Amino acid sequence: MTETFKPDTTLPVRIAASPNHGERIGVERPSLIILHYTGMQDAHEALARLCSPASEVSAHYMIFEDGDIAQSVPEARRAWHAGASSWAGATDINSHSIGIEIANPGHEHGYVSFPDAQIKSVIALCRDIMLRNRILPQHVLAHSDIAPTRKMDPGEKFPWQWLHDEGIGDWAQPAPARAHKKITPTSRAERIAALQHDLARYGYDIHTSGQYDEQTSAAVRAFQRHFRCRHAGDARRPHQKARQGRSHFRYGLAAALTIAQRLWPI
Ligand SMILES: [Zn+2]
Repeated sequence: MTETFKPDTTLPVRIAASPNHGERIGVERPSLIILHYTGMQDAHEALARLCSPASEVSAHYMIFEDGDIAQSVPEARRAWHAGASSWAGATDINSHSIGIEIANPGHEHGYVSFPDAQIKSVIALCRDIMLRNRILPQHVLAHSDIAPTRKMDPGEKFPWQWLHDEGIGDWAQPAPARAHKKITPTSRAERIAALQHDLARYGYDIHTSGQYDEQTSAAVRAFQRHFRCRHAGDARRPHQKARQGRSHFRYGLAAALTIAQRLWPI
């Protein structure tokens, strides 16, 4: 049924071709990497689903718990992983991105920590994709960032700080919210609007309504899953400060830190 193809990466991957892909629309090459979890108990069943025409879903890559990588869709093609989603004003995220599924049962089936071997493969693969496609570190995002009202993956156990230490993704150091700066659903409208403005400036699909509405609490939850997760990694790795000073992080992190200081903790 499905054609085979040559892997895009020189990393050891096996091909498990999926028929679920199409042309990228109006996009020459991807500029985002979207990270997911599979949300199924069995990783092999998850891969079978991504390759089944009936499912109408796919991802470019899937990474098993032991670090093995499968490629299902060529990077030049548009895979079907993002669904209705948005980032920094772009809405056809499938056309703009490369999707990576990471095997984990997810919140509905017994969410577990991601094994180190699996994360090492995530890091190696992201780095390889970023180099070949010239994707910026801050353009590696969670599915929950681009679809905060619908999605929770890869979730608060995903070690974003570790990835950032390896030059992948953003990281904002958690800081205790100062009481007078905290924004809650009962804060004044202009303060809620300022939070909404920062969330939108960072990339979330959110309108400045001045109301602590559903889109706002969803974006706040997504932000917290990404930047204030309870991952037990060492928060003070010595080289982290130097990385934060790198120019391509500045804009994103400045906005992220502003947001982090304003959030009402969940
Ligand atoms: Zn997902």
